[in-house]
Amino acid sequence: SPSIVWFRDDLRLTDNPALRAALDRDEPIIALYVLDEESDGVRAIGGAARWWLHGSLTSLGERLEERGSTLVLRRGAASEVLPAVVEEVGAGAVFWNRRYGGAEREIDAGLKEKLRDEGVDVASFAANLLYEPWTVRTQSDKPYGVYSPFARAVQKLAAPRPPMPEARKVPGVSASVDSDDLSSWSLLPSKPDWAGGLRETWEPGEPAAKARLKEFLDDDLGDYSTYRDEFAGGATSNLSPRLRWGELSPYQVWHETLEHKGSGEHAKSAGGFLSELVWREFAWHVTFHSPDIATVNWRRNFDDFPWPKLNRSHLETWQQGKTGVAVVDAGMRQLWHTGVMHNRVRMVTASFLIKNLLIDWRHGEQWFWDCLVDADAASNPFNWQWVAGSGADAAPYFRVFNPETQRKKFDSHDQYVRAWAPEYLGDNPPEPMVDLGETRKRALDAYAQVRHGG
Ligand code: FAD
Repeated sequence: SPSIVWFRDDLRLTDNPALRAALDRDEPIIALYVLDEESDGVRAIGGAARWWLHGSLTSLGERLEERGSTLVLRRGAASEVLPAVVEEVGAGAVFWNRRYGGAEREIDAGLKEKLRDEGVDVASFAANLLYEPWTVRTQSDKPYGVYSPFARAVQKLAAPRPPMPEARKVPGVSASVDSDDLSSWSLLPSKPDWAGGLRETWEPGEPAAKARLKEFLDDDLGDYSTYRDEFAGGATSNLSPRLRWGELSPYQVWHETLEHKGSGEHAKSAGGFLSELVWREFAWHVTFHSPDIATVNWRRNFDDFPWPKLNRSHLETWQQGKTGVAVVDAGMRQLWHTGVMHNRVRMVTASFLIKNLLIDWRHGEQWFWDCLVDADAASNPFNWQWVAGSGADAAPYFRVFNPETQRKKFDSHDQYVRAWAPEYLGDNPPEPMVDLGETRKRALDAYAQVRHGG
């Protein structure tokens, strides 16, 4: 009886424990992907993410074909689709790699129980995080809410396992299995086609992901700790969408980085880079324990924050990159065009929206969710709440990023502003939509109310 490998956020053939388990079982394999836009609580992916998914599934499908199998595509609520496919093909086993969102875990647990009751062998694996979120506990047996002790705690755990080799052959079933045509899912934008910048910037899929990891480690890692904050970039890995979609596993990134660690400045860079991977772990740790992180303040005293009535025109001005503040506009346009934004600029643009415009972080989080190719159900809300001051290990409330100071420090040669908002380098640069000093004061007054209330 065939095995089903249910692909989710792990669109790869290397270091894929679910696929490995199916290969070990030595029966024909059905590789399945389910587009689930129906299950309660599963967050619908945003526009840029849909574009990425289309490319990554295309690539995975081609690679499975080369190895003797096909990718079966189905749409609907996973809790119904999966048992239906099991029955159709008479599968004896189902394997998947774990996901960590609240609604997703419930669906998976329900499926495990149901399929096992029907006599199907079901197993799930750790593949997309280095540390299962429930295994990292404080001395008083609680989850962590602060990064540094979390990072120290994971260092004491067993080192991440080495990655598993690539699946060279994936034997398929001889009978044909019904599959949707990927184009019928309409993941790509049509009218208007806004994805030109994404096509120019990215090539989704595992081969390009591996190539980028190699290039980063060979050419850029040494510069990471010195230049990672420079807005114009070049020194960071650009691996975030690869990790988001699981074209690479964190185990691959972890071990290959250690192999390139070297000494001196290089080793410092490698350490700094790996600690960013631990931030990703921490964001998922927090999200696992607070699954409603995208909608609910992690610090509940923030529920009393005196947000003024939403000024939609201000929100749109920010979204369109027309705020009159050079770095903010450059960042928002980079986001729209490429589907990513430099990490520090993400902080500056988020701080501007929340603190200078006093717009609830959830509106900004939703816009990023729709525009980012790396939009991640943990990292995005976690970092938005970090900037807002409502989150775990959050920025102190009195920290209002000054976009001009940030620009002087991290874009001193105007490379970034020239690329994305060149009008600021002319004789008549645009005027800021609000006074930065006055709005900063207004934000601090609003924050003081929460602090005293909380
Ligand atoms: P590198 O500097 O090369 O870092 C390596 C990897 O570490 C990244 O690919 C990423 O997986 C992880 N990482 C780095 N910084 C963080 C961080 N602060 N939190 C969690 N993981 C981190 N990252 C996402 O992957 N998805 C998101 O939706 C997302 N939304 C964000 C929203 C805001 C408001 C902010 C301030 C940050 C957000 N980040 C998000 C974190 C960070 O900006 C990106 O991971 C980073 O810019 C990706 O570029 P890189 O791959 O070149 O990073």
